[in-house]
Amino acid sequence: MQRRQFLRHAGTMLALASTATLAGCARQAIVPNAKPTVPPRAAQLASGVAELAPVRAEVDRITGVYVCTRPFRAAGPRIELEKFGNKAVVHNYGHGGSGWSLSWGSSTLAVRMAQATGVRELGVIGCGALGLTSALLAQRAGMSVRIYAKALPPDVFSMRATGLWTPDSRICDAQHAAEFGDRWETMARTSYAMYQSMLGLPGDPIEWIDGYHLLDTTQGQQKDTVSDEPEYGDLSDRISDLGPQSVTLPVGSTPFPQPARRFSIMMFNITSYARMLISDFQLAGGKIIVREFNHPRELQALPEHTLINATGYGARALFNDESIIPVRGQTARLIPQPEVNYALNARGLSMVPRRDGVLVQVMGDTGNFNNSDLTPNRAASEAAVRQLADIMATMRST
Ligand SMILES: Cc1cc2nc3c(=O)[nH]c(=O)nc-3n(C[C@H](O)[C@H](O)[C@H](O)COP(=O)(O)OP(=O)(O)OC[C@H]3O[C@@H](n4cnc5c(N)ncnc54)[C@H](O)[C@@H]3O)c2cc1C
Repeated sequence: MQRRQFLRHAGTMLALASTATLAGCARQAIVPNAKPTVPPRAAQLASGVAELAPVRAEVDRITGVYVCTRPFRAAGPRIELEKFGNKAVVHNYGHGGSGWSLSWGSSTLAVRMAQATGVRELGVIGCGALGLTSALLAQRAGMSVRIYAKALPPDVFSMRATGLWTPDSRICDAQHAAEFGDRWETMARTSYAMYQSMLGLPGDPIEWIDGYHLLDTTQGQQKDTVSDEPEYGDLSDRISDLGPQSVTLPVGSTPFPQPARRFSIMMFNITSYARMLISDFQLAGGKIIVREFNHPRELQALPEHTLINATGYGARALFNDESIIPVRGQTARLIPQPEVNYALNARGLSMVPRRDGVLVQVMGDTGNFNNSDLTPNRAASEAAVRQLADIMATMRST
C-alpha cells in the first residue's frame, strides 16, 4: 500500500524493481544555457553515490503560494458530445489531478468527436491544459480554431498544478476504475507518446528527472488514501511498460540517512510549456477571445457550429454539472535553483525542481475534498518549507 501511495502521489507509474546498479545512479545537473553552479552545501560522498544539491528551504525564498481545485469526477472526465440548440458541444472536462498528463490523449478523443460533425471551423471554450491541447490538435487536423475563455494563462488553474506526469491522480474513484480503464489507457499512451516528442526543446517545456522517495522505516506502513477522500482508481499497472522502472536504494547510496526508492518521471515546466502551446496556436493562425459565458444559451451566438467545452472546474457552474467535485491543492514556490535537478518525496512532502521555482507541497493532508476555497494558507506552506529544511539538514556531506 505504501508503494501505491508513493506511485500515485509521486506520479511514478513504474515501480517494478529493477536490477540497475548504483553506479548509474549519480546524475549530474544538466542545465542547458545555465552557468555551472556550485551547490551551496555540496554533498561529498563516497564514489558511486548520488550527488544531490541541497534545496535552500528558507521561508523568505518563497516567491508565491498558489491554490487551485482539481476538477474531480467519480466516473472520470466527461468526453462526449451534447447538442445545445444548433450547436454541437463536445465536453472535455473533469480531469482531477491528471489534466496535464492526460491532456493530449483526452483532447485527441474530443477533437475526433468534433471532426465527426463535419465542420471546418471550431470554437474551443477554455484556455487551460485541455483547451490548448484541443485547439492545437484541431488545427493539426486542418480546422480553423478560435479559443474563447474568461481567463488566459497565467490566470488559469492549470498554471497552478505541480507539473508532473501523474496520469491516474484523482482521475476517477475505485468503483469506476474498471469501466474507465480502457479509455484511460488509450489517453495515457497517446499523451505519453506526444510528450516524448517535446523533449529537448528550447526552454525545456518537458524533461525527465530523477526523484527519490525516502522510505520511513520508523513509521511502518503508511495509509494509502487521504482519510476524508474516496478511494481513487489505481490504473498505473496498465501502463507499467512505459518508461524506466523505479529501484530501491539501500542506506549509503544516496545522501539521505534512510533507504530510498529512486524513480524517473516526466516534469512539465508549466510556464515555458504553456507559453509554447499558446504561441504555437497563434503562429498557426489561431485567435483567442477573452469572454465569459454564464449560461449555455450564450453559446448560441458564437459563429462556430461545433464547440469543445474545456472549462475544467468552470463546467460545474456553466453546465450545472454537480458531478464535478473540487479537490483543493496548494503549492509554494521557492526561488529556482537550477542545480537542484531531482524530485523528493518524504515525510508527507513533495518537492519538485521546476525551472520556474522549486515547488513544495504537502501530500495527504485532509480538508481538501469538496473544498473550493482558493484562499492561500501561507502558514501551512511555511511549515512545509521548514520541514523540508529539516530533511535537507539530514543530507550527508563530509
Ligand atoms: C495542486 C494541484 C496540483 C496538480 N498537479 C498536477 C500534475 O502534477 N500533473 C497533472 O497532470 N495535473 C495536475 N493537476 C491537475 C490539473 O491542474 C487539472 O486537471 C487541469 O489544470 C485541468 O485543466 P483544464 O484545462 O480542464 O481547466 P483550467 O485550467 O481550469 O482551464 C479552464 C479554462 O476555461 C475557462 N473558463 C472556465 N469557466 C468559463 C466560463 N464560464 N466562460 C468562459 N471561460 C471559462 C477558464 O478561464 C480557463 O481558461 C493538479 C491540480 C492541482 C489543484
